[in-house]
This record gives sequence, C-alpha cells and structure tokens, in this order.
Amino acid sequence: MKKDTRLGHAGRNPEDNFGIVNPPVYHASTVTFPTVAAMHEAGKTPFEGVYYGRYGTPTQFALEEAVAELEGGEKCIATSSGQAAIVGGVLPFVGTGDHVLMVDSAYAPTRLRLCEDFLKRFGVSTTYYDPLIGAGLADLMQPNTKVVFTESPGSLTFEVQDLPAIAHIAHAGGAKVVLDNTWSAGYFLQPFELGVDVSVQAATKYIVGHSDAMLGTITCGADLYVQIKSTVTGMGYAAAPDDCYLGLRGLRSLGARMAQHQKSALKIAHWLAERPEVGRILHPALPDCPGHDIWKRDFTGASGLFGVELADHHGHDAIAAFLDHMRLFALGYSWGGFESLVIPANPSAIRTATGWENRGNLIRLQVGLEDVDDLIDDLADGLDRLTATATE
Ligand SMILES: *Cc1c(COP(=O)(O)O)cnc(C)c1O
Repeated sequence: MKKDTRLGHAGRNPEDNFGIVNPPVYHASTVTFPTVAAMHEAGKTPFEGVYYGRYGTPTQFALEEAVAELEGGEKCIATSSGQAAIVGGVLPFVGTGDHVLMVDSAYAPTRLRLCEDFLKRFGVSTTYYDPLIGAGLADLMQPNTKVVFTESPGSLTFEVQDLPAIAHIAHAGGAKVVLDNTWSAGYFLQPFELGVDVSVQAATKYIVGHSDAMLGTITCGADLYVQIKSTVTGMGYAAAPDDCYLGLRGLRSLGARMAQHQKSALKIAHWLAERPEVGRILHPALPDCPGHDIWKRDFTGASGLFGVELADHHGHDAIAAFLDHMRLFALGYSWGGFESLVIPANPSAIRTATGWENRGNLIRLQVGLEDVDDLIDDLADGLDRLTATATE
C-alpha cells in the first residue's frame, strides 16, 4: 500500500480497543507483575513489551511503530525532544578516544551542546566537514571515527548531502551514519535505502505539526535497537504519553499537510526569486540551492522550510523594519507547525569548515498552511518596508 494509506493505519488496531479508532493514552510509571517469576522473566527483556514507564507505554509503542513505518526502518525509539533524539542517536556509538565527523551545517545545538560541550568533555573529538564534501569525506576519516553525522538539507543553509557516497565511505571505515531527517519529516526521504544507519527527527516539527509538543524519534534497524534503547533509557529520555499521542495524531494528517507546505513554499520561493531585494533562494527544489541535483535524485518532495539570501547586506534597522511588522509570519524558533514563521539567521557565527562571508542577509521562512496569497502579500509589504528603510 502507498505511504498515505499506511500512515492512516500504522500503529493502531481498533479491535484491541473496543473498536475505538485511536489508541488510548496510557499514563504510567509502575507496571505490576502477578508473580516473582513473571517479574524476573520480564526483566530479561525490558525493552520488549511493557516493563516500566520510562521504557515506554503502549501509546509510545504505537507512535514508534508508525514512525518506523514512515521512515522505512525496523525499530523506532521516541524521546522527549528532537535534541534528545540527536544525543541518543550518537552516544551509543562513541567513547573516550573516539572521533565524530559532524556536518558543518548541523542544527546549532547539535554542534554546540553535543560536540563542543559533552563529547569534548568526555574525550570524543569532532571534525566538522563541508556538507557538499561527498566522496571527499574519505580524507577526513580516522581509524577512530565512529559516527558520521549528517543533516540534509542543512540547517539554515539547506545544502543537500550525498548520503549514499557518505555512507559508503563511513561504512568502509567502520563508522555509523546518523541523519537528522527533520526537514523531510521522513515523508520525502527514505534514509535506510540510502545507507543511513540511524535517522533522528525532531518530531516536534512536522510530525506533531501543531507547535504544541516536544518530541523526538530515533529510527534504526533491529540490530541497533537494544544498544540505542539502553542509552536512551539510561539517559532518562522518556517521551511523555500525551505528547506521543499528539505525535501519532499529527502523523495521520502528515501527507496532506506536507503536500500543502510543499505547494505553498514553492509558490513563495518562485515569487521571491523574482523580487529585486532577493539574491538567492536556498530551497532544495530550486536550482540555486547547493545539492539541488542530489535532492532531485534522492528526495520525493520538499517541505515548507527554506532560506532566502537577500541581494544586499542590510543593517539591523532595515531587517527590523522588514520582520517586526509582519502580519502572518511570526518571529519564532522551531517550525513544522500549521503557522508561518520567520527568523533572521547568521550561519557564519556557527561554522568552521565553510564560510558565509560577504553574503546578503539570510532569512529563514517556515511556510505554514495559511492561504498562500495572504502570505505573499505579507512578504511583499515586508520587502517594501525593507527597501524604504534601506534607502532612507
Ligand atoms: C528543532 C530541531 C531539532 C531539535 O528539536 P527539539 O524538539 O526542539 O529538541 C533538531 N534538529 C533540527 C534540524 C531542528 O530543526
């Protein structure tokens, strides 16, 4: 069956639940056992079935089953946030003396918190690499490289990575490939077909889809499940049952929402490309975006998040005139919800392997589900304010 059909049915079985369409929300810490023998038996396989609240409830398992199905993996582990999924997707594979290759365009906390803070303090070194490196990654592999972390397209700058080429090199050196797959929602990219070992998502974004929960997912093959699950439960990353329910509910409309995000974002991207204030559109489906050909090869569509590089570099006042008075695009972090958002971004502050010098200002748009013509009007007025302020 096709993806949208599977998304409607994955992770639920009304027959187990009085015929009710959706699975119930189980709130649990303690799970009781009828006998000492049963308790002992369950303790042999704590990651299979219901054992203790932190290890998951049937609500969480339903979400995990559905996300594994979405991404084409065998197992999934839900976590309390996308950041927890990132940490939980890397830590199982590294220890003191090991090395991580981290994409230079990674989500900032992946770099600053995970690599520069925790991993460094625990004796794991990181080398940052150009997201467009492809097969050139071979030159950076070390005998102790255990994880090659990818994020495609990259945060803020949207470079699309050659995952099969990277996976080939990583695997030849005995390293795991971890992908931050949040942009595609797992809907427009099937990571395991491209050689990825572990796919993490901030389910906070498109899967939840309504800006009302924090949730992460780690999807993998059955062979890595126990190793990752024991790290995740050991770190204490329990996903809350109500949030798992919201993630599961979001999944039911994911296909319809992604289709609309894609359509509106493309219309806005093409409209912006014609505006004189705009330099480059960093949208993977547009030819200006680095890695556009790889996007065409590997992805089946595009979500609603993209970057806009302005033609000039403007000061604070002009950018504030543009963004402070938007009617629909709110200023705010996160994305993937029904509502449109915008942020001014500065990639040069968090890069070392690649630069962003002498470039126009970067603006990131999350195109929501509002009527696209209203969104275009909002942007048109904003760009007029930018021009008026810039030429004052
Ligand atoms: C938001 C985001 C995260 C972190 O997710 P949280 O749920 O906010 O912890 C990770 N990766 C990417 C690409 C993100 O945009």
